[in-house]
Amino acid sequence: MKKNILLIVCLSVFTSTGFAQTVRKVVFVIADGIPADVIEHLQTPHLDSISHAGRYMRAHVGGDKGTYSETPTISANGYNSLLTGTWVNKHNVWDNNIKAPDYHYPTIFRLFKDAYPQKKIAIFSSWQDNRTKLVGEGLAETGSIHFDQYADGFELDTIRFSHDRQRDFMHRIDEQVVDQAAKSIAQTAPDLSWVYLEYTDDMGHMYGDSPQMDTAVAYVDRQMGRIWDAIQYRQKRFKEQWLIIITTDHGRSEENGKGHGGQSPRQRGTWMITNSPDINTYPDYYHPGIVDILPTIARYMNITIPLPVSRELDGVPMIGKVSLAEMSVNCFQGKLDISWTALDPRENSRVKVWISTTNNVKSGGTDEYRLMGEAPLGQEHIDIDVKGQPSTFYKVVLEGRDNSLNKWVVSPGQTK
Ligand SMILES: [Zn+2]
Repeated sequence: MKKNILLIVCLSVFTSTGFAQTVRKVVFVIADGIPADVIEHLQTPHLDSISHAGRYMRAHVGGDKGTYSETPTISANGYNSLLTGTWVNKHNVWDNNIKAPDYHYPTIFRLFKDAYPQKKIAIFSSWQDNRTKLVGEGLAETGSIHFDQYADGFELDTIRFSHDRQRDFMHRIDEQVVDQAAKSIAQTAPDLSWVYLEYTDDMGHMYGDSPQMDTAVAYVDRQMGRIWDAIQYRQKRFKEQWLIIITTDHGRSEENGKGHGGQSPRQRGTWMITNSPDINTYPDYYHPGIVDILPTIARYMNITIPLPVSRELDGVPMIGKVSLAEMSVNCFQGKLDISWTALDPRENSRVKVWISTTNNVKSGGTDEYRLMGEAPLGQEHIDIDVKGQPSTFYKVVLEGRDNSLNKWVVSPGQTK
């Protein structure tokens, strides 16, 4: 009898420690156009309870200012940087018209569905274009990706949500979107969901830094409380582990908090909130970028990213081990002067340098990379002689043990 009890105890310990039992799920949220200082100075008890489980971080959008990857701090540009893990020079969404997204840079939804065709994806959004244009549902170019669940398009229903001047209808749409998201999470628990809310950006444009903006942020706080309740409900009753990442797509102007699109610190300055207690050391040293969210979700969900895709990613995973960050390249006199920062100086590994002079990925082709050299991680720099490969364009990939970085070298006046 005693033996049996011991066996049962052993088994239950074994399963509760996660022997292929716990299912991982992810929700990411964009609440539109909230500068970091705004969210920091307001009372946000629900967001605080999420960040107490994990972390609040200042973050950034806008690419590398003054370089080939500089990205206007405009909404759709930012959403697509999250979705593809790349800046605008790759994903090609330059404004909210979303004229020609380059679907050769796959979204997190596509990478997830390619890896796990049976798992479920969902979108709950106050703007329908997020599903139909950015993710590109049903388009041949996106492999006809299909959402298993969605709730959007309410902005097109001008009878149920008649458009008033004060844009109260947009708050009601956000409420509807959050209701559906919370209900779906609690009842059917899609594996990967995106929640997008707009009202804060409307109040920012109309009133700037104002009590109206503060009220809109208070709404977001309560809405996130409802999503968090649904997540906690699932975690208590099911063998599920959830990651939530909440962020914004841009800040607002220093002058009055109305505009955005430029490269000033307040427009580039954003934030992230997550429940994850497993954030690595990278955000200890850098304000993460919106492009870091894709590799983070990919790590959490154990998505294998094909090499040609991972070589294009502009982000660093915030979960799991990372080797290097903060890459820079300078080209002069036929050599590339490359530097990086080793995140753990004790890590004894090597960094490989791969170079391509083509950018065929942009049009669906492949690029040939040549291994040009390697150096100890802790050396943090290397010179590469490229006299034998004269070019006005180089793609440089640093392959570390636990993550890769990439930068382009673009001659002045040259675009790729
Ligand atoms: Zn926006």
